[in-house]
Amino acid sequence: MGDFNLKDMPWDGLHEECGVFAMYDFDGGDVASSIYYGLFALQHRGQESCGIAVSDTNGPKRNYALHKDMGLVNEVFNQEILEGMHGDIGVGHTRYSTAGSSCRENAQPLVLSYWKGLLGMAHNGNLINAEELRDELSMTGAIFQTTIDSETIAYLIARERLKSASVEEAVAKACDRIKGAYSLVVMSPRKLIAARDPQGFRPLCIGKRDNAYVIASETCALDTIGAEYIRDVEPGEIVTISPDFGIKSDKSRCVDKSRHGRCIFEYIYFARPDSDIDGISVYESRIKAGRFLAQDSPVEADLVVGVPESGNAAAQGFSLESGIPYGTAFVKNSYVGRTFIKPKQASRQSSVQVKLNALREVVRGKRIIMIDDSIVRGTTSDRIVKMLRDAGATEVHVRISSPPFLWPCYFGTDVPCREQLIAYKHSVDEICKIIGADSLAYLNFERLPQTVDGLEICHGCFDGNYPMDPPTKDIRGDYDE
Ligand code: SF4
Repeated sequence: MGDFNLKDMPWDGLHEECGVFAMYDFDGGDVASSIYYGLFALQHRGQESCGIAVSDTNGPKRNYALHKDMGLVNEVFNQEILEGMHGDIGVGHTRYSTAGSSCRENAQPLVLSYWKGLLGMAHNGNLINAEELRDELSMTGAIFQTTIDSETIAYLIARERLKSASVEEAVAKACDRIKGAYSLVVMSPRKLIAARDPQGFRPLCIGKRDNAYVIASETCALDTIGAEYIRDVEPGEIVTISPDFGIKSDKSRCVDKSRHGRCIFEYIYFARPDSDIDGISVYESRIKAGRFLAQDSPVEADLVVGVPESGNAAAQGFSLESGIPYGTAFVKNSYVGRTFIKPKQASRQSSVQVKLNALREVVRGKRIIMIDDSIVRGTTSDRIVKMLRDAGATEVHVRISSPPFLWPCYFGTDVPCREQLIAYKHSVDEICKIIGADSLAYLNFERLPQTVDGLEICHGCFDGNYPMDPPTKDIRGDYDE
């Protein structure tokens, strides 16, 4: 037996690539511990590795402190480490790998010390042209230390900086070259910059606490450190923060909103329910998805339950709409860390129960409607349905708060290739039989925009129509070869 990654657990969920958090305190206070708490609130966006880089804007231009490693935020950092990190500007990152392998070298933030001083960067998303750019940069002498496409962005910015009047201009020129999903935070010796791709695939928001500005993947991280939400970084916008001018905005790369493509899965599953993204409450969008399921695919039952956590709000929505009582049927063990003793193959069937257990007292003798956010490969749902039956459920009706996955994702999540998607190979009736449910229904595709009040969204993994042309081959992880 040995350690294995949480990713290897036989759990059929999806993963977000990363969370980013950055802070600049104009009063000169240390920001490392606030970034730590911000990252802690973004832990759900990536549990493989994390890191913080800080710098003192009044010190020499190449000064910085960096700490990053494999593990959860509270495993990688302790009080002593944080107290040793001095600086009033900083960037932080939590990572789950969808491009580049899971190892310490690939942890972020990335820090480059170059001719103009310091460049620290953290990135959430996936580029679709990173391979070409990487080849181009390699041909002109760049030596890559990692296998992540984020390093390509960092090199591009550093190279452009040599011919630009300001670091924000260099970031803008780099953004003109990169294609795909990116929510970036960049720190230079004297400025903090945030950039979001023109489609707005991944979220990014701005907050303020006293005289300090904060950039975060989600608003829940602002709440955690007591920062006030100011606004979201708009799709295509580049925001520069400096005591010289406060916030400066460059919207020259913003496109018509009909071309936006926010990842709908942020609302369905990835983001925390206490976050708002682009003015829409994640919790409310899940409630709506549950209501639509109840309207479109009703069924007689005694109790509606959610598969925690993301299924819970949708289950409440189903209950509110149908009048069928909502209950808690599962207890989840939230303490499964990055490393976990691998169950022997023979005991693998029971691994779901490491994470989840059914409450017999709630379930026994009842007809249950079980709401989950998605079925990816179908390797978990059958076990959860069986768990309910073993606990005494007389019927189990499964409702999924998203449409069936039919296509992969190239924009920062690990929705896999088509061959691995159960809905690509099987009809809904077949999947219902495979998972052992009494009935199965998915959210109607037409309902998706309604769950986010008509915001323009990406729904490529459901219908193959992405907001930009996808790469001709799946490049995820190719640099490792
Ligand atoms: S393809 Fe799916 S998972 Fe990927 S960004 Fe689009 S909606 Fe999100």
